Amino acid sequence: MSHWISVAVQTPAHSAVGGPLTYRSELPLAPGTLVRAPLGTREVLGIVWSTADGPPDGRSADGIRAIAGVLEGITPLSTPWRELVAFAAGYYQRALGELALAALPPQLRELSSTQLARRLKASAGQSPDFARAQAVTHTPDSIALSEEQTLALAEFESKSGPFLLFGATGSGKTEVYLHAVAALLARDPGAQALVMVPEINLTPQLEARFRARFDPRYGAGAVVSLHSGMTHPQRLKSWLAAHSGAARIVLGTRMAVFASMPALKLIVVDEEHDPSYKQQEGARYSARDLAVYRGRLDGAKVLLGSATPSLESWHHSRPATADDPGGRYVRLAMPGRIGNAGFPKLRRVDMNHQPMKTVYSPPLLDAIRQRIARGEQSMVFLNRRGYAPVLHCADCGWKSECPHCSAFRVFHKIDRTLRCHHCGFTERVPRACPACGNVDIAPLGRGTERLEEHLAELLEGVTRPDGRPIRIVRIDADTTKLKGALESQLAQVHAGEVDVLVGTQMIAKGHDFRRITLVAAVNPDGALFSSDFRAPERLFGLLMQSAGRAGRDASRVGASESPSEMWIQTFHPRHPLFEALKAHDYPAFAAGELKERLNAAMPPFSFQALVRAEARTQEVAQGFLNAASAAARQGMPGRAGFEEAMARITLYGAVPMTVQRVANVERAQMLVESDSRMALQRFLAAWQEILRETRALPLHKGLIRWAIDVDPLTI
Ligand code: ADP
Ligand code: ZN
Ligand code: ZN
Repeated sequence: MSHWISVAVQTPAHSAVGGPLTYRSELPLAPGTLVRAPLGTREVLGIVWSTADGPPDGRSADGIRAIAGVLEGITPLSTPWRELVAFAAGYYQRALGELALAALPPQLRELSSTQLARRLKASAGQSPDFARAQAVTHTPDSIALSEEQTLALAEFESKSGPFLLFGATGSGKTEVYLHAVAALLARDPGAQALVMVPEINLTPQLEARFRARFDPRYGAGAVVSLHSGMTHPQRLKSWLAAHSGAARIVLGTRMAVFASMPALKLIVVDEEHDPSYKQQEGARYSARDLAVYRGRLDGAKVLLGSATPSLESWHHSRPATADDPGGRYVRLAMPGRIGNAGFPKLRRVDMNHQPMKTVYSPPLLDAIRQRIARGEQSMVFLNRRGYAPVLHCADCGWKSECPHCSAFRVFHKIDRTLRCHHCGFTERVPRACPACGNVDIAPLGRGTERLEEHLAELLEGVTRPDGRPIRIVRIDADTTKLKGALESQLAQVHAGEVDVLVGTQMIAKGHDFRRITLVAAVNPDGALFSSDFRAPERLFGLLMQSAGRAGRDASRVGASESPSEMWIQTFHPRHPLFEALKAHDYPAFAAGELKERLNAAMPPFSFQALVRAEARTQEVAQGFLNAASAAARQGMPGRAGFEEAMARITLYGAVPMTVQRVANVERAQMLVESDSRMALQRFLAAWQEILRETRALPLHKGLIRWAIDVDPLTI
């Protein structure tokens, strides 16, 4: 007799069959079991999702195919894991099968049953290896915690969370994670912990710290990594170790949020504000947000940590007041630095008083020369990320603000227009400044391609204390393409062979540089007036993080003649963002930003989604979006149960994306906003169908693709 089961398999994005498909099986199979199933002419990997009562409506039993086999030796995926995947698929508007299969290591799909059986046998033989563990340099496995660390951990242990650990750079957050994990593993012999970092290949130090701490006690297999920089066989090995429970700690990037961990009891999200936690293609999930959700499903404590939390997490962790019950996160604060190392002093260079077109101001150059003379390192930070250009009048200070929004309109060079990416309001670029008539209006910010070379020219002839010429090293996406390049460059910095480190935000994140005593942001102004409302938040985080790279070594800094410094070159030295930075006051900055967001009804006080469309022309891309929007406006309010949801939805007009053409494909987007997450979710789920129908119309056949981005990070 045969059993009916529904199986999640990978179906193409936007195909009408998004859900699990029905199959027959000779044996009853538990939900979560991995199987091979026929799909069209192929045989694919599938996950048994549930048992089914019979063939789907309208299908005869004869037409239903049988699964081809079960992946022996792999226990079924847990119920919370399946719930997590189902939630993510629903929330981020993707097909369940697509998301579920993408969450598994690629080799499960690629290997034949025999190959897989061999792998399983190999990995089963590998119980934690104590002999190898002994070889790991033995570090004291617990150092005396600071008072702040002790208090934070005590509160963490006594409450259920989720927690936001708001700890300054160098306050010892990593040590808190290590202790929280150690306490859990000591208390619960089977428990597992997941520790996520934004970019694991940038933080080999973290992996080393975890291994040094846990390998000696739990064996060399106790800590595994999971990130996209690994080979497929490595990923499969880590995944199997996590899935079987042999790995006690999984360190990973955003993809690790889907790791199968049957005994998951703790999730740490380090640098929780980092935009890398948001997947930028396919299912555009936020691993940080999913971590919080997963904690509920698995009964695991969730600990988010940052020196500059996302405004969302900051808002969710606000303390209760007389007329506000407060947020649902517990905020743990560690404002001081370990060893009482001071925070770097902020030095602002007012670029209005520097000669025109100055890139490196004389005071900054002097300061760098002094550091070199003392044998200290400097880090020059180039804010090269493309902030959308805003037009600016140098005479009167006019900027291309949108009259309808608290946002700046973006200069689109291609058709010389100013467009608001929030509401779509568009005008031709004015011939002269609308405020003062000056004809010389120009985009703010300049290209930074030659900044490294320029600095080398300016520092020519400067020598180190030992008389040798200085070394400047640039670290960015271009210089680190080759495997191992980043590691070797970082090693040079740590070894003190480098005097000035020049780089993009890549170097601002997390590295524990010991000898850097000066950090400089050369041209951060672009983000102050970006069309993206999250740009100031990101700039502040980046500057605080960069400042956190300086003066981390209290003993060294104490010995130095002057304290470490953070330099900012700006035309707006009195800008509140820099004032808050000077006072090292993230709460003040956050309060100001949240007030603006509240007034403008922006996240976290509203909920957003973007629909993006790509076509050969803007007309087709925008035409599709506007048609789907019109169809929703006409059809949906009449549907039962949708009147109320629709009343809370705002659909804006289609606009070109900031980077409007990529590889000859025109890209457009449409913003959807609501004051209710529920209403937005209901709307999007129903709108999907309309988008599919609209796309099928002959009028829109030029459309290449479309996709929904829920809680987008950039607009
Ligand atoms: P964060 O992650 O908050 O920037 P880390 O955890 O990296 O800070 O700690 C900064 C430095 O201080 C590290 O070198 C760490 O080893 C050291 N450290 C952390 N906690 C302590 C402690 N309780 N006593 C001594 N040193 C500590
Ligand atoms: Zn003007
Ligand atoms: Zn506008």
